[in-house]
Amino acid sequence: MKKKVVMIFTGGTIAMKVDPDLDAAVPAVEGNELMSMVRDVNEVADIETIDFSNIPSPHMTPDIMFELSKVVKENVSRDDVTGVVITHGTDTLEETSYFLDLIVDTEKPVILVGSMRNNSELGYDGAANIASAIYTAIDPQAKNKGVLAVMNNEIFAARDVTKTNTVALDTFKSPELGPIGIVSNNEIIFYRDVLNRQHINAEKIESKVALIKGAAGLESDIVDFYVDSGYKGIVIEALGAGNVPPPMVPGIQRAIDKGIPVVLVSRCINGRVEPVYGYEGGGKVLKDMGLILGGNLLGHKARIKLIIALGVTNDVEEIRKYF
Ligand code: ASP
Repeated sequence: MKKKVVMIFTGGTIAMKVDPDLDAAVPAVEGNELMSMVRDVNEVADIETIDFSNIPSPHMTPDIMFELSKVVKENVSRDDVTGVVITHGTDTLEETSYFLDLIVDTEKPVILVGSMRNNSELGYDGAANIASAIYTAIDPQAKNKGVLAVMNNEIFAARDVTKTNTVALDTFKSPELGPIGIVSNNEIIFYRDVLNRQHINAEKIESKVALIKGAAGLESDIVDFYVDSGYKGIVIEALGAGNVPPPMVPGIQRAIDKGIPVVLVSRCINGRVEPVYGYEGGGKVLKDMGLILGGNLLGHKARIKLIIALGVTNDVEEIRKYF
């Protein structure tokens, strides 16, 4: 009996062609057309397709991710389904994959896949990536690893993966930890496990969460803007080990005083925030003010976690436990 894989198509370059009038790539390819390019996989898997959307991934929102998570939950709970593969634009693939990783509680493989070249380009990588994703989804070793991203013959954990190059085929990396496995001639080889998986049982989300990137000389006005605009949570991608310019501190204090959870991560792509500095704006001072330390999460990943956590509670101490 062949294993059943549900393919959910959301869009992205993998489903785009060049429009000659625009001389630019636009959404153009439906799920079944994509699957006709990878006919060989029908020999190893029974494929069911769902055309969820056909959007470029900069059009993806947390609310759409939440709707997508319902479709994923529905399908992984089916006894006849071995795994789910989701095609997605690469720009926000890392956000949707981490969103699903946190919110979908399943031991079954859920794989995100995209392409860097569109369907009109020489060397289109979409078909090969889809095949790799399907081979991963039916591999028993892919169970219990959380949501994975498969691109360019490499397998990444959702929590760590990030797009590192605007155009290169090997754009996806887990900068600190590396891929967890590879796809080698359709064989799946895992090198390591994923130990830091987390599930947040959220029935709703709060998408009004801001992300502020730290930079030399920033002041409080940017923080005030989000507080005054009714944002329910703020993530600060701070400098180095988790420090901000002193003029930002009064704005952060105002956010804390209003009971808004403020999560501190670093703009460095490697390493955890560490509250080592006691100078004005230093990480130890921010921690003592009540900021939530976000470990080694990238800023946009911490934002996804806060969006989901705020769907469960707006109690800052409860939210701190999720980080
Ligand atoms: N801009 C495209 C998107 O994210 C890039 C891609 O899919 O590779 O939809």
